[in-house]
Amino acid sequence: MTKFTDLNLDPKVLKAVADAGYESPTPIQAGAIPPALVGQDVLGIAQTGTGKTAGFVLPMITLLGRGRARARMPRSLVLCPTRELAAQVAENFDTYAKYTKLTKALLIGGVSFKEQDLLIDRGVDVLIATPGRLLDHFERGKLLLTGVQIMVVDEADRMLDMGFIPDIERIFNLTPFTRQTLFFSATMAPEIERITNTFLHNPARIEVARAATTGENISQGVVMFKASRKEREATEKRALLRAIIDGEGAACTNAIIFCNRKTDVDIVAKSLKKNGYNAEPIHGDLDQSQRTRTLDGFRDGTIRFLCASDVAARGLDIPAVTHVFNYDVPSHAEDYVHRIGRTGRAGRSGKTMMICAPRDEKNLAAIEQLIGNAVPRLDNPLGAGVPVTDDDTDAAPARAPRRPRREDRPKRDERPARAPRAEPAEAGPEAAVPVDAAPRRQPRPERHPTAEAAAEPTREPRRERGSRRDDRVVGMGDDTPTFILKSFEERSGD
Ligand code: AMP
Repeated sequence: MTKFTDLNLDPKVLKAVADAGYESPTPIQAGAIPPALVGQDVLGIAQTGTGKTAGFVLPMITLLGRGRARARMPRSLVLCPTRELAAQVAENFDTYAKYTKLTKALLIGGVSFKEQDLLIDRGVDVLIATPGRLLDHFERGKLLLTGVQIMVVDEADRMLDMGFIPDIERIFNLTPFTRQTLFFSATMAPEIERITNTFLHNPARIEVARAATTGENISQGVVMFKASRKEREATEKRALLRAIIDGEGAACTNAIIFCNRKTDVDIVAKSLKKNGYNAEPIHGDLDQSQRTRTLDGFRDGTIRFLCASDVAARGLDIPAVTHVFNYDVPSHAEDYVHRIGRTGRAGRSGKTMMICAPRDEKNLAAIEQLIGNAVPRLDNPLGAGVPVTDDDTDAAPARAPRRPRREDRPKRDERPARAPRAEPAEAGPEAAVPVDAAPRRQPRPERHPTAEAAAEPTREPRRERGSRRDDRVVGMGDDTPTFILKSFEERSGD
């Protein structure tokens, strides 16, 4: 088996990796690091949980160790689809670069331009950004991309889902042709294939299979639920959720509760809080500082229940949770796999329970078909009739019961207008002074402040290939995620 010491990484990087407690490189790391270190482009087909972040951060740190940052000209660029992912890459960078003098800046929405400008002015080695925010900085003349030697595109399929591909293409064209590109995507949709054919040069292609099945160490169940009266459905469903949680008792140390709609995430969190549960919501419409605070609280155990939309199901490195509750049956079967994959990580056991209303039965059948098993039916802990007190009814705005509305989901072709390019406090003279040699561009269309957040996909990108049911999730000890070790070659035998 390959060892980190075989990989030709900077000794300072090796020391940081040893501190992190990693024993050996994961398959994506073992495959991506050697070509990256010799300057080759890399096409990594891998999803979160495979160790792909270190797969590009470690060689970047090693390569960048041999030079110095120049004002306003970052030497490398990492593009991520969401603020959370960008923040996680930044954290990874801090971990692995702690014995070096390399500097970084994180350019994400929800953080003041001024602070970010200061860092860029001083010169940074690594710029980690969401595409919209990066272009905003560029257009304000605060940033030059002509010094970028290494460019990383992380979670490209998610960028596609969120409508960021034109931005990515533009950014590619603003960086030097001679740059090295490290490109990661969980799937290879035709559009992604096109981008890689256009912008990558003879890449080393490394693929690790994705989790198409639910881990065997996750115990699953579903409670079939029918409201006593239609107009009481929401109240009764929340009461049922509380009963399910209560039934788990102390075994439920912490849990993620997934809802299909952002509005329900808020309502369920509020209702739980009102009933004495330590719960907070997280979804793309909340402001960045609140999302960060909530995630930190959940990580350090001060928050026990995280009510989440699917943004939390992908990408976020949330530590092990004992339980995942699906308040709704996800409307895309693969979301189920991702959601419940938040528990039972790293070889631990986990438990997941879902509430299924009659109209969700079709979606439940699709999940069972995908995972190749029936999800065991559990007894309704409240019995046949649901005795519900109205103690949480004001958690929800008064509304008629309704079928799940399609319009609750952001549609691809309804990508919201994006945020204004300069935040009001900074739109004064300073923002108007272009840096010499910075390209002058036509103003971009108005942007909505929460565009990146609002563009949060509610579903997985469509998979190019049929899902395998016989893949195995392999836990690798306490600090390791579950890795999918099957090779591309094995998969191609489908
Ligand atoms: P990623 O796929 O980059 O989001 O990584 C998922 C998790 O794997 C993170 O918590 C990393 O800290 C962890 N990780 C990365 N590389 C290794 C490794 N070689 N051994 C064990 N854990 C790792």
